[in-house]
Amino acid sequence: MSETIFSKIIRKEIPASIVYEDDLVLAFRDVNPQAPTHILIIPKKPIPKLEEASEGDRNLLGHLLLTVKKVAAEAKLSQGYRVVINNGEQGGQTVDHLHVHLLGDRSMAWPPG
Ligand code: AMP
Repeated sequence: MSETIFSKIIRKEIPASIVYEDDLVLAFRDVNPQAPTHILIIPKKPIPKLEEASEGDRNLLGHLLLTVKKVAAEAKLSQGYRVVINNGEQGGQTVDHLHVHLLGDRSMAWPPG
């Protein structure tokens, strides 16, 4: 089990701008947005990073990604958007609780930095 700032957000111990919640996942606005729309979608289960997800998390991961799609639709990102998962130190991960970045409302460059 990993305790991070996201655990506190899930338990509502610290404030967050929550845009979607159900029994399995939570979506909230990134505190340091890298695009006009920047939302994090996380499982409530504290999986530290993608590489630590297991076969038993198959349905949860599917639900997580479908929630990204739902949140993007609710945010009206009809022009397109980017979905990012940073994994580990070289991947740029800074919070050890699996999270999906949803970025939109601006054009994205490739390759990412
Ligand atoms: P990553 O670098 O992929 O681990 O992303 C972690 C993200 O969490 C960063 O974009 C941070 O800005 C964001 N973040 C950290 N603390 C908070 C918080 N309390 N509320 C919302 N977003 C946060």
